[in-house]
Amino acid sequence: MKILIIENVWMGDDSYKFFDKTLLTMFSILPTLYARQIAAITPKKHDVTVVNERYSKINFEEPYDLVNINFTTSTAQRAYEIADRFRKKGITVVLSGLHPAALPNEAIKHADSVLLGRGELNWLKLLEDLEKNKLKPVYDPIRYNESVHIPPTNIKLPGFVITGAIEATRGCPYKCEFCPETNIPGGSHYYTRPVDDVIAEIKAIPQKTIMFYDNSLTIHPKYSKTLFKKMKGLHKKILCNGNADVLANDEEFVRLSKEAGCVAWLIGFESVSQKTIDEIGKKTNKVDEYFQAVKNIHDNKMAVIGCFIFGFDTDIHNAFDDTLKTIKELKIDVADFCILTPFPGTPIFNRLKREGRILTKDWAKYTLKNVVFQPKQMTPDELLQGVRRMYAGFYSTSYTIERVCRSLRLGIYPFLLVLARNAVATMNSKKLFVSKHEN
Ligand code: SF4
Repeated sequence: MKILIIENVWMGDDSYKFFDKTLLTMFSILPTLYARQIAAITPKKHDVTVVNERYSKINFEEPYDLVNINFTTSTAQRAYEIADRFRKKGITVVLSGLHPAALPNEAIKHADSVLLGRGELNWLKLLEDLEKNKLKPVYDPIRYNESVHIPPTNIKLPGFVITGAIEATRGCPYKCEFCPETNIPGGSHYYTRPVDDVIAEIKAIPQKTIMFYDNSLTIHPKYSKTLFKKMKGLHKKILCNGNADVLANDEEFVRLSKEAGCVAWLIGFESVSQKTIDEIGKKTNKVDEYFQAVKNIHDNKMAVIGCFIFGFDTDIHNAFDDTLKTIKELKIDVADFCILTPFPGTPIFNRLKREGRILTKDWAKYTLKNVVFQPKQMTPDELLQGVRRMYAGFYSTSYTIERVCRSLRLGIYPFLLVLARNAVATMNSKKLFVSKHEN
């Protein structure tokens, strides 16, 4: 069969100027994994094309037998347009990803089949069924077991690729109310790849810098420590996601990550209010451990990228000023500020829907930068303006220069990363928001 796998569908954001767009399409900075993993496990008798729409165009004239589109909520509209166009030509379309998995009844209106859960667990069965003309409308989630492996990718990336990407683990045992990743149909099943498989894939990745796409490498410290020890001497530079608890309390873990080549830790701090952390059920976070987590990372000459979310029910007007003050005291190197977004399928979406607080189901607005629900203790506009103020305050020219200069003490790689991430964040912060929320 002639198969097309599409990911990273492009909403055609016109706010990007020609120069920015050219940069975005020339450099694969954070390459996606899904399509290349699916392609890697597809039997060789099939002819597979992978399109990441951000970097390449879809050829609607090709006579494909099967098109698989993998997407998240904010790009659902474009994914459905592509699906409808192929189906008009009589081509079989399969949809996968967090959004169709959360809303299969919506997705099936644009598809012949919907893959729930992790795509690769059902992909081979789906291909067999299609060849026998017995495609099912829905493929239920399957749990990982010993026979299932997260496949290594084997498809070349388009453009000039700066960063490689890999996954060592899947899932997360925590159940934060807002997190779409861990509320996938069938439940989030934490799974670790054999360490030697991960090491073999790292060795095969040509890029010097690799991003671990795992939800968190601190969930199973013993596993990650083994991985880090085996990475020593591979001469790679890595970026990892992790949680504050382990990074604050396990100095050996932090040191081993540095020895493995870690340049920066991305931490979902989410809030500097313990009341808010308790409300969302983020068990890994204790606000009074944040300082120690950042100190351990900086002491080992790595950078800290912090993520913060605003709009929780306990957030009041001073949440913005309190957060800016605290992250300046913490000396975080790069920060991302998001507006709470209740993605379909998450407990928070269901709760806000019950309470009549979902303001729009225009999925294109579910980008983490628009207000799509009624906050409890402020107006939607106060929330939007508050997050804008966070960007303005944190990415002011003087504070950005101070931060970037400060990162020089971490060494050349963390410094370059902090410089690049601050430059991109400054560029994005000017265009990430719609001018007014529309309900
Ligand atoms: S710890 Fe992170 S990945 Fe796990 S449920 Fe919470 S937000 Fe999601």
